[in-house]
Amino acid sequence: MGHAPVSIFQALVQQLAHPYKVPLRMSQALAGDMYAHFLQFLEQNDITSLKPDYAHPPLIRLHGGGAVTWLKDLPVPTIIAMPLDKGHRFGGYTALPHEFGHDLSGTFSGAQLVEQIKTQIGSLDIQHKAWWQMWAEECFADSIGMAIIREAEIFSLANLFTGYYTNIIFTDESGQRPDEHPNRHLRVLLAIEVGRILGIPNAILNQTRQEWTAFGNAKNTIYPPDQVYDEFSQMSYPMSEFIAGLVPVATALVDTGYNQLHGKKVGDIFADFTSSLATQMTDSITEKAWML
Ligand SMILES: [Zn+2]
Repeated sequence: MGHAPVSIFQALVQQLAHPYKVPLRMSQALAGDMYAHFLQFLEQNDITSLKPDYAHPPLIRLHGGGAVTWLKDLPVPTIIAMPLDKGHRFGGYTALPHEFGHDLSGTFSGAQLVEQIKTQIGSLDIQHKAWWQMWAEECFADSIGMAIIREAEIFSLANLFTGYYTNIIFTDESGQRPDEHPNRHLRVLLAIEVGRILGIPNAILNQTRQEWTAFGNAKNTIYPPDQVYDEFSQMSYPMSEFIAGLVPVATALVDTGYNQLHGKKVGDIFADFTSSLATQMTDSITEKAWML
């Protein structure tokens, strides 16, 4: 969605004078690190076609709801609106790499990823294959989060999702088109499978999956058990149908060599990414209880 110059002005004013200017500036600095790294990646791989889309780093501003990205409306930057006013929850901060993923999705993954997901899940005997294709962009954004802050992205998702039923899907009036996000339970499980292909140790991922499931059971946030429940149509479907899609979709997310990137994959972009802010964020989220 495009945006007006007034949003840019508001973002700048917030970073100067808002009571939350400090977390805003920290987020701006991290966005700058991710952006600079991506530009360097383009440079090193001689990818000139995408450069005009990245003439400016994303600009961070506050948002009262969830984190949201307003894609660039050239020549102005992408605006990433962050829910930093909600008690500075870790989940709020760490939504930033996911949002940067939306910026990247807009320029190189789009249709090619949807096609790749279709290919990967093609031979599976499951319903709702098309839903995974509709979820492609949000899955991609989560995979960028995984590539940038690694397992902290899983903790971040889990942290954000506390207090919700995690296996509900919201469809539109037709009952055929789901919300653009997979349900919360699937997002956490998918992030874990993406992490596996990215090379995060299985011991960490298995333990995380176990804790997440135990947490869901204990808090009764997976309701009804083993079902994906559509709040609109009040239909429910077996969770196992969707679980079957996790590995193929994770494979599409991590193993697709993008034409626009001269065949490079998501993991290649951020393989050597370093940012002291990202490290601080990762350390703080892994040291603390992630399901407070
Ligand atoms: Zn998103």
